[in-house]
Amino acid sequence: MRNMNILITAGPTRESIDPVRFISNRSSGKMGYALARAAARHGHAVVLVSGPVSLATPRGVRRVDVITAQSMLEAVRMHWDWCEVLIMAAAVADWRPRNPSPIKLKKARMAPRLELEPTPDILLALAPHKGARLTVGFAAETDHLATEARRKLKAKRLDLLVGNDVSRTDAGFEVDTNQVILLTADGRPVELPLMSKDEVAERILRRVEELWKDSRR
Ligand code: C5P
Repeated sequence: MRNMNILITAGPTRESIDPVRFISNRSSGKMGYALARAAARHGHAVVLVSGPVSLATPRGVRRVDVITAQSMLEAVRMHWDWCEVLIMAAAVADWRPRNPSPIKLKKARMAPRLELEPTPDILLALAPHKGARLTVGFAAETDHLATEARRKLKAKRLDLLVGNDVSRTDAGFEVDTNQVILLTADGRPVELPLMSKDEVAERILRRVEELWKDSRR
């Protein structure tokens, strides 16, 4: 099989409240980095668009650092023509403060009331321009995992959706293990056992390579 150009996003985004405070989430970036490592090991060309995490850049991977959802969208757009596969493993913040303060808010004042607005949905924004690319998304849910995963697969026009139950303590955010279901548009969901994020990444990548081969037939 010929090597692919794979664009992977990882980690959280940060959305500013003021110059020193932000809204974010518990993503550590481990799943996305494991995917980047696996993809490079398989000989693919990998660009990793990374939110703020404390992980080393995998060998053979070009890393582009971003902070906000908006800057992640711009970085993905910049590499859109180049990429043949997009894997959105990042936990993009869903909301951001509508009017971030340019100066540090004073504690002495009354607690600020934050007005939030939605961030751009990167997968949704790019779905109409998908072309022959394969797109992979993640769904982190605390309930109704299978139903939500199926809904997101369709709404975001994904080829593969990786669903995980983040209410478990041994799967999802921050930990080194994960337990996921793999969902494709036509197939039955495949439930993988609890395994390391490196093993999960390997399984996801193999599935992506199969889908890629099938799509070129
Ligand atoms: O709808 P939800 O945020 O749960 O969807 C998760 C998937 O969508 C993940 O693959 C995530 O990277 C992606 N996403 C995105 N842009 C956002 C929020 C999530 O591309 N603003």
